[in-house]
Amino acid sequence: MALHPLVKRVLLTEEQIKTRVAELAKEVTEHYKKNNIKDKDIVVVGILKGCVPFYAEFFMNFKQDVVMDFMVISSYLGGLKSNKQPKINLDLNSDIKNKHVLIVEDIVDTGHTLSFLKDYLKSRKAASVNVVTLVDKPGGRKIEFEANFIGFSIENEFVIGYGLDYDEKLRNLPYIAIMDTDKLKTWE
Ligand code: 5GP
Repeated sequence: MALHPLVKRVLLTEEQIKTRVAELAKEVTEHYKKNNIKDKDIVVVGILKGCVPFYAEFFMNFKQDVVMDFMVISSYLGGLKSNKQPKINLDLNSDIKNKHVLIVEDIVDTGHTLSFLKDYLKSRKAASVNVVTLVDKPGGRKIEFEANFIGFSIENEFVIGYGLDYDEKLRNLPYIAIMDTDKLKTWE
């Protein structure tokens, strides 16, 4: 398969992602079963847009009949820079009071977005708020934050593909790869 010219190195293949996401869905299911939490009390909240491929794969492997919901948070200033002050651009459709919320996120970097989001959802009286992230970059943390369920922990590099964008592009690459930022000047 020919790789996209902005790919420096493929970190995770489609196959690896699929296998890990199925395991993750099982781990999360077991967590809720162990804590006697019923399907009707669970709301699975995807953070658009980066979560879409992960959310779809996770949800189909998550053998629980739960409510699906989404939010749009702006935490990136386009390009490569993260924003300290995330903003809610689209809020939930469902009432989460006394519900167990599972946030589905593509990647945790500085920790600002999810820390903000967890506080916000707790302030709306959720019974619990857990986070499942496909990718974690612990080396990028600016504040303390730990996801409850992690697909892959990776080095502190800017990655693209499988929902992760560069300036709203490259989300449809079927793998996750480190981007070759040196080639950006010559690419468009
Ligand atoms: P945080 O608030 O944890 O710094 O960042 C969360 C958001 O930043 C993610 O949802 C994602 O949109 C974006 N982000 C962080 N690291 C990367 C990366 O390596 N690649 C891409 N494409 N987006 C990232």
